[in-house]
Amino acid sequence: MKEYIYQPPDDVQEWECICGNTTCRAGFTSCDGSGNEMRPTLDSEWQELYLCLNCGRTIDQNTLEVVGRNPNPILL
Ligand SMILES: [Zn+2]
Repeated sequence: MKEYIYQPPDDVQEWECICGNTTCRAGFTSCDGSGNEMRPTLDSEWQELYLCLNCGRTIDQNTLEVVGRNPNPILL
């Protein structure tokens, strides 16, 4: 079964992960397909994924679907 994070319809800046983390709490950061933090640059192969900094779930920013989980992400 697919999991999705919650985004209020009236505030696209605000995300709430399934674990309860929000943009205003631990927050989220851009990550690669393995769930490790990365800086998205023009020539990077960033797949528009974000990492929940509380639980390590990785999220597709376009669909808000949880696409993976890395419990021990490497942060920059
Ligand atoms: Zn989370």
